[in-house]
Parts: sequence; C-alpha cells; structure tokens
Amino acid sequence: MLNIKEYVAPTSLEEAYQYLVSQKGATLLGGCAYLNLGTRTIPLAIDLSKAGLSFIKEENDYIEIGAMTTFGDIEQSKVLAHYFNNILALSVSDIVGVQLRNLVTVGGTVYSRYGFSDFITALHALDTKVKLYKQGIFDLEYFLEKGSKEPDILEKVIIKKDNRKAVFKAMRNSHGDYAILNLAAAQIGDKFRIVVGARPGRAALAYQTMEYLNKEYLKNQEFTSSALKQAGEILSEELSFGSNGRGSSEYRKELAKVLLRKALKEVTYLAGQSEN
Ligand SMILES: Cc1cc2nc3c(=O)[nH]c(=O)nc-3n(C[C@H](O)[C@H](O)[C@H](O)COP(=O)(O)OP(=O)(O)OC[C@H]3O[C@@H](n4cnc5c(N)ncnc54)[C@H](O)[C@@H]3O)c2cc1C
Repeated sequence: MLNIKEYVAPTSLEEAYQYLVSQKGATLLGGCAYLNLGTRTIPLAIDLSKAGLSFIKEENDYIEIGAMTTFGDIEQSKVLAHYFNNILALSVSDIVGVQLRNLVTVGGTVYSRYGFSDFITALHALDTKVKLYKQGIFDLEYFLEKGSKEPDILEKVIIKKDNRKAVFKAMRNSHGDYAILNLAAAQIGDKFRIVVGARPGRAALAYQTMEYLNKEYLKNQEFTSSALKQAGEILSEELSFGSNGRGSSEYRKELAKVLLRKALKEVTYLAGQSEN
C-alpha cells in the first residue's frame, strides 16, 4: 500500500521539476499502477496528470507521445494506427486488461526501463528518442543502457516517421502474465532491426543478427529457411538469456529462434506488400 504524506498536482513541467528536486524521496506519479504494487511511504507525491503530458502529436517528420499518455490511448490512437503496422498498440494489447492499460503510462514505463516491458521492446524497433525535461534528448538505446544521471522527468518520446514495417511477438505462460520473452523486428528498405526483451533483462538490439540478416537479404531479397535458422543460432548466442520463474535460459534461447523466424516472415511479407 502507498502511504503519501504530501500530494501536489503541478500544472507545468517546471513546477513539477522544482517539486521533484525539493526533497529526497519526492516521487512522480504516472499511472501509479507499478508504484502501488509495493508498500512504501512517499514524503511528496507529484501527480503529473495536470502537467499537459497526455498527447499523441503528429508532426511532419515525427510522432511525439507525451509521458502521461496511457497504453489505452496508444491502443485507440488513429495516428499510431497508420504507422509501423500499429506495432505500439499491438505490443500492449496483451498486458493484463483494459482497466490497467487505461492507467499505465508511457513515462512511468520508459523512465523505469523495466526488463519485462513489452512496450519498450516495440518502441526500440523504431527510431525513438527520449526527451528528459532537464537533460534533453537521448537515443532510446543510450537511455535504456545508462538511465537518467539525476532525478528528471520523462517528458515525451519522439519517433521518426519513416517507412519501416514492424512486428511484435511475445510468448506468455498465460494471459495477463508477464512475457517469458518478447521480440520486435523492423524492416526499412534492405535493413533489419531486431530487438529482444524480457530475456528477462532489458530490451537490447541484436547487432550480429542484424548484420547477418542484412547481408543475406541483399543476396535474394528474401530469407531461405537455412538463413532463418542460422539467424536464430546467432541471436541465441549473441544476447544473454537468463532464467527465472517464467522460464530457463535454454527455453528462452529456443523461444528467441521461433519468435525471430515468425517475426521475419511477417515483416518481410509486409514490406513486400507495400512495394506492390
Ligand atoms: C499488475 C501489473 C502487471 C503488469 N504486466 C505487464 C506486462 O505484462 N507487460 C508490460 O510490458 N508491462 C506490464 N506492467 C507494467 C506496466 O505496463 C507499466 O509499465 C508500469 O505500471 C509503469 O507505469 P505506471 O504509469 O503505472 O508508472 P508508475 O507506477 O506511476 O511509476 C513507475 C515509476 O516511474 C516513475 N515515473 C512515472 N512517470 C514518470 C515520468 N514522466 N518521468 C520520470 N519518472 C516517472 C515513478 O516515480 C515510479 O518510480 C504491469 C504492471 C502491473 C501493475
């Protein structure tokens, strides 16, 4: 249970930031779903819901998603439905249920860099940057690795509008559980981007697999079954796959191969369709 000593609901980012740095233990509230899982006392709770951070904006070259945008908003967005084969909405659609998805936020998720996150894996398959209010703009990859150097507010994520095709795959023991493994694949022209999350470690790019796929694809503009097999072998060796209550390292390696094969078949099909 959460025990909140003082509660504020600032109406601007600057005001929220001043509260955040005003005392040790000051805590931002996103959807509060994850915060609420533990028992803790928060000396100062900063509710971001009035700070103007709930938006999905389409600019000429980018889509911006504000930190207080919920997964429910992502699923219902007509803008996002037009891009990247709706990967963002599809990545969150199996998370627990509608009520939870209408609470949980982009900011709380991305700032926390959860290893199990489905949304982060999908976001990482796109050309995504993270805007922190004080520290500025970072590549998502850098942010996932390093995190924030100091207390800050995740203001928005910025996604480049390019023509990539993208698909998301995940394996769960049961509906509503965390993924045992998730994987996103994107194709832009002849180039592939592969991200694997819930290993159970944080989502990471599979550079060697991508390099292999790029070379193979250049040869025939498709993947033979032996190339798909070889890509799976490379993937299962290049990233670390751990064991926990949801699955062993060996099981995750096998899953990675299967999810990769399915994702590549789908993404190359989608890319082929858009050329016709
Ligand atoms: C029961 C349950 C099951 C779940 N299952 C899944 C699942 O299967 N797959 C999956 O991907 N996710 C799952 N999640 C996680 C969920 O999708 C969100 O990622 C998570 O709840 C965090 O979002 P929130 O808005 O609730 O954050 P909060 O709980 O409000 O905050 C989390 C942390 O982020 C900080 N924070 C919040 N907003 C900001 C901001 N703008 N800037 C900086 N810091 C901020 C808070 O201070 C806090 O430390 C689950 C969550 C719950 C509660």
